[in-house]
Amino acid sequence: MTGWSNWSGRARSEHAEVRFVRSIDDLAAIVAAATEHGRCVRVAGSGHSHFPLVPTDDVIVDVSALSGVVSVDTDRMIATMRGGATIASLGRPLHDAGVALPNQGDIDRQTIAGAVATGTHGTGRSLGSLSTRVAGLTLVDATGRIVHCSHAEHPELWRAARLGLGAFGVVIELELSVVPAFRLAESAFATTYDELRPEIDRLVHEHRHAEFFWYPRSDRAFVKVIDETDEPAVYPLADEGARVGWNYEVLPNHRPRIHTEMEFAVPYDRSLDCLDEIRDLLTTEFTDVRMPVEYRTVAPDDVWLSPAYERDTATISVHRLIEFDDGPYFAACERIFRRYDGRPHWGKLHSYTADDLAAAHPRWHEWWSRRDAIDPTGTFLNATLRRWRP
Ligand SMILES: Cc1cc2nc3c(=O)[nH]c(=O)nc-3n(C[C@H](O)[C@H](O)[C@H](O)COP(=O)(O)OP(=O)(O)OC[C@H]3O[C@@H](n4cnc5c(N)ncnc54)[C@H](O)[C@@H]3O)c2cc1C
Repeated sequence: MTGWSNWSGRARSEHAEVRFVRSIDDLAAIVAAATEHGRCVRVAGSGHSHFPLVPTDDVIVDVSALSGVVSVDTDRMIATMRGGATIASLGRPLHDAGVALPNQGDIDRQTIAGAVATGTHGTGRSLGSLSTRVAGLTLVDATGRIVHCSHAEHPELWRAARLGLGAFGVVIELELSVVPAFRLAESAFATTYDELRPEIDRLVHEHRHAEFFWYPRSDRAFVKVIDETDEPAVYPLADEGARVGWNYEVLPNHRPRIHTEMEFAVPYDRSLDCLDEIRDLLTTEFTDVRMPVEYRTVAPDDVWLSPAYERDTATISVHRLIEFDDGPYFAACERIFRRYDGRPHWGKLHSYTADDLAAAHPRWHEWWSRRDAIDPTGTFLNATLRRWRP
C-alpha cells in the first residue's frame, strides 16, 4: 500500500511504502532490507499523534497484527504484551488475569507501543505516564536482530527507550508493571473558572484523578474527579462524569471531534499562572476559539525524555477543530508555555527546535547517544528526527 495519514489527516506521507507486518520474521526482513538500501523505517501505531513523528516517504511498518497479552506474572506484577495491541484491547484480558494498568489517557484507541513511545499519560498527581510502567521491552533493531532490555539487561538502552519516539527500533513486546484490578467511581460538576481556581490544588491532592476542561466562550469549567471504590460496577455504564466500573471502563472516553492539539507540561506550582495567561489570550485575542483548554497533572519521573522528568507537573492542552487554521493560536499559546519552562508532549504539536529540546530535557544528549549506538546508520530517523539529532 502507498501513502499514510494520521488520525486528523494533517500529518501525511503521500509516497510511503506501508508494510503490514504479519510475523516477527517478516518484520526483521523488512527492516534489514531497508537498512541495507539506506531507506528509513518508521513504525505507525494507531496514528493518533498530531506531531509528524511517523511520516517518511520510505517505509512505514504497521504492527497491529502483533497484538494481545502474552503473559501475566502476578508474583512480579508484570504483564507482557505485544506492541501493536491497542490499549482498548488490553483492558479485559488484564482484568481477567486480576491486574490493571494504574492509569491511562483520555482515549484508548492508541497502540500500547505508540502510547509508551510518546509518554502518553492520564491525570493524577501520583500517577506517572505509561512510559514509567515499562519494566522491559523487546525490539527489532535496524539489522533485524531482536534485542531485549530492562533494568538488568542493557540498562542504559532501557532507560532511554522507555520513551523512544520509534527511534530505537520496532517494539514488539513490552513488559509493563501492573497493579491489582480496581474499580473507580467518577463524578463531575460544572462551575465558573473563578470559583474553581482556588479549589484546584485541593481537588488535585484529594482525588486519585482530577482534571478539568475550561470552555472559553462561557468561561465555565467541567471538572471530573475519579477515585477507587468498593462499590459494584453499574451497567450499562453511565455517561462520562457519572460512571462506576473497572479502571479500563471508566478511564477512557469517546472523543470523536477531529481536531489538532498542543500540550505542554509545566511546573505544577506555576501551572495556574500559566493557565490564567492562556485564558487571557482566549478572552482577548482568540475569541473565536470554542474548543476547551484541558488541565491535568502527572507525577514526576526518571524517564529521560519525559515531559514530567524530575518535576511535579501539570499539563495544559489547547485544541482547534480541524476545519480551522491552528497556526496563530498555537503559536501564541507556545509563547506562553515557553515562559513557564514548558516541555511539549511528543505526540502533539509544537515548534521546538533541537536547541529548545536540548534545553528542556536534561538527558537529551544521553538519549541521542544511546539511540545512535543501536542505530548508527539512522534507519529509524525520519526528516523530523534528523533535524533534532545533535
Ligand atoms: C483524540 C486523542 C486523544 C489523546 N489523548 C491523549 C491523552 O489523554 N494523553 C496523552 O498523553 N496523549 C494523548 N493523545 C496523544 C496520543 O496518546 C499519542 O500521540 C500516542 O503516541 C498515539 O499512539 P499511537 O498508537 O496512535 O501511535 P502513533 O501516533 O502512530 O505513533 C507515535 C510514536 O510511536 C512510535 N511507535 C508506534 N508503534 C511503535 C512500535 N511498535 N515500536 C516503536 N515505536 C512505535 C511511532 O514511530 C511514533 O514515533 C491523544 C491523541 C488523540 C488524537
